[in-house]
Amino acid sequence: MSSREEVNLERTHSFLWSKKKWTGIPIMSANMDTLGTPAMHRALSKYNLITCPAKHHLKKNLDKFKRGKSNVCWFGGIDDISKLSKTSSGFIGLDVANGYTIKFVDAVKKLREKCPKATIAAGNVVTADMTQELILAGADIVKVGIGPGSVCTTRIKTGIGYPQLSAVIECADAAHGLNAHIIADGGCVSSGDIVKAFAGGADFVMIGGMLAGHDECDGTLENGVMKFYGMASESAMTRHDNHNAYRGVEGKTVEVEYRGKADETIKDILSGIRSACTYVGANRLKTLSKCTTFVRVNNTHNTVFER
Ligand code: 5GP
Repeated sequence: MSSREEVNLERTHSFLWSKKKWTGIPIMSANMDTLGTPAMHRALSKYNLITCPAKHHLKKNLDKFKRGKSNVCWFGGIDDISKLSKTSSGFIGLDVANGYTIKFVDAVKKLREKCPKATIAAGNVVTADMTQELILAGADIVKVGIGPGSVCTTRIKTGIGYPQLSAVIECADAAHGLNAHIIADGGCVSSGDIVKAFAGGADFVMIGGMLAGHDECDGTLENGVMKFYGMASESAMTRHDNHNAYRGVEGKTVEVEYRGKADETIKDILSGIRSACTYVGANRLKTLSKCTTFVRVNNTHNTVFER
């Protein structure tokens, strides 16, 4: 290709169960308190990106995300099924830290029964077999990622996790074999990481930390920094008053440098992906994974030096 302008970043996905079609740039903001705001929705909608509103908006702010509703994905937990079924938005999803329970699979089945025509996302999981199980239970899209998030402490606290790129490659293969889709959720710190997720087969990429610190975020700006916290952090538990005796903290609160309007960051991300497509000769995002390959590298030296 002679120019980045020739690259088409939009994709059209047809969903297995809902039978609906969606066209847009398949990048979504994480359904986290500070990011899933109406202002972020406006900023992302301008470029046809998807917003996943923070769950607390499910209670009373559905209307604030009505514009461009096909680019909204409401996530909730197992107890939110009836609220989710009333959103009538583009996508709905069930989102738990650990998608490996019978209770969760049953919840996906229940949501599918309640909303036969909805495009349903479910996660998080990191393996091919569970991806298939969730799809067979009624998910159109499986959300992939355990442990990679920028404010996630699961790997440290519990020793549980899975390398994100491997998870994306394995789960995408499994989902695509059934004509379903995946979201690569977490672990992207640059546009290059988003490129790698798409190249590994992700149909959507969800980003959290990359969108933190902007005017559109919920939070105050103090001394040039804004707070950003995990949904399983002490900050989130305090805000939503859901401490209990057995649930541990698996997220942290960080201070992110203020970065102004999200618009500049979004443009920067999109230009990085466009540029990657020109490097590998993909004139559409759709062909990026076919035009790329991964090379295993031995990073022992880095590990030694970093210590
Ligand atoms: P990021 O793009 O910031 O690397 O990752 C965002 C993702 O991190 C979210 O979409 C979600 O899956 C995950 N996440 C958000 N908050 C927490 C948390 O408190 N604990 C854990 N384990 N993961 C979190």
